[in-house]
Amino acid sequence: MRKRRNLQVGASLFLATALGHAQRAPGIVDEWLARLDTQGAERVIRDAGKSGPRIMVQIARIAVHRGQPKVALSLLDAAGAEAGSEDGRELRSIAFGLLHATEGAVERTTDDGALRVQFQHGGDVALLPWLADTVVAARRVTGESLGYTWSSPTYVVLVRDQQTLAEATGLPYESARTTGTLAIAKWGRVTMLSPRATEGGFPWRDTIVHELAHLALTAVTSDHAPLWLQEGVAKDMETHWREREPFDEQPPPEALVLEADAKGELLPLDKLGPSVAMLPSARSAAIAFASATSFVRYLRSDLGPQRWPAYLRALAGSRSSDVLLEATGKSFGTWQAAWLASVRREGKTMSNATPSVPEIDRDVPRRMRIGRLLVERAHGEAAMKELARVGDVARRSVEREGGWFTLHALAHDQRHDDVALDALLFGAAPATDPRGAWYRLRARRDEGRGDGSAGAKDREKAVSREPYGPEAVCEDGRTGREAALCDAARQRMQPGVE
Ligand SMILES: [Zn+2]
Repeated sequence: MRKRRNLQVGASLFLATALGHAQRAPGIVDEWLARLDTQGAERVIRDAGKSGPRIMVQIARIAVHRGQPKVALSLLDAAGAEAGSEDGRELRSIAFGLLHATEGAVERTTDDGALRVQFQHGGDVALLPWLADTVVAARRVTGESLGYTWSSPTYVVLVRDQQTLAEATGLPYESARTTGTLAIAKWGRVTMLSPRATEGGFPWRDTIVHELAHLALTAVTSDHAPLWLQEGVAKDMETHWREREPFDEQPPPEALVLEADAKGELLPLDKLGPSVAMLPSARSAAIAFASATSFVRYLRSDLGPQRWPAYLRALAGSRSSDVLLEATGKSFGTWQAAWLASVRREGKTMSNATPSVPEIDRDVPRRMRIGRLLVERAHGEAAMKELARVGDVARRSVEREGGWFTLHALAHDQRHDDVALDALLFGAAPATDPRGAWYRLRARRDEGRGDGSAGAKDREKAVSREPYGPEAVCEDGRTGREAALCDAARQRMQPGVE
């Protein structure tokens, strides 16, 4: 589906996003829902002792947050004319989308109660053990970093296609397609596209962490965090749950900010609209993510470990249009100008250290496709010849790319050329993330060299990157959750089986 062009590979998560809340004044029920506390929201309504159509719409909102679309729809039916209000119409459409996504879905709750998942495609249950591990780690890192205590279960809905993702969250489908959105944090849950729906997978566990950061920040600030803060924090948090890789964030956000600055493409951070997912192109979304991430890091580092969490807490109680001014004495505009000046200054000193990624020669994707087909048929020798036909200039532009590394590694493995294989696995690291098979090959070589612990980590990374790639997750002698995932990956490849 989504074409992975070189520029975007390093930012494959720039698609995950939080939608801004609807254009209406948030009420007290919304504040409890932002804190992921549906019981608190219900108590507010009960204590007020009121009834009537308006209250029914509010209870329908709580039902949507709880993942009870049928309850929400019957409340909206009972609310009569009030269901025709902007709120009512929005809720009805979300409830229908959620009903479509979850009717007949397989539901699982983990033993510790931390995670509740609805899998629209039953085969995705094979992902549950990894999903549960990720959520535990994500709750820990987002909680520590944002000063939030997760108390209610994390609710995840995994859907089979982007249309369903859009319908169940309220994001216009066209926007989801344009920016290639993979996941949305809204309505008290994470709705994510199943990796089975993508060609080549995506770092889905980083995406989960990104979305949980949105939910935690929404809770801490009672949904008063501006979009730049939401996206900057979530993007920054994506890799905090795991070891960093050399190809994370390549190119670095500052490089993209400088490039956009030079081309006049930089958007002011407070003019990003209701969601990054609704920006006009994938490139403008990537630039927005890069600037938000860089600005948040600048601000957090300048404010330090005491004033940063104080600022986040201040957002919850404040109705000011410039909470930064209130909390730090400097206006948002002043902060933004200081940040940009600092990026420009740093840019001068790094000068050409991070050259912008060249366009790929048109011949390369074609040769890569042929090479991949040959590797799939175990013709490693012929694949190498095909890849060697790419001209020198074109090869230089992609030879540090993860996809190129992976294909070469597979071909060398088929040719039993361990020296060349090890050079690709343990020598110079690729500049962008490799596919799942690269990690699986490295795991096998780790274990061959007696390093079982590195091998185990690499197997996990293969699943994190490409859970439905048989060459990434299947290996003889595996049992338990790994064998189940391999079965699911092989089933997905069978013709006629979705
Ligand atoms: Zn996001």
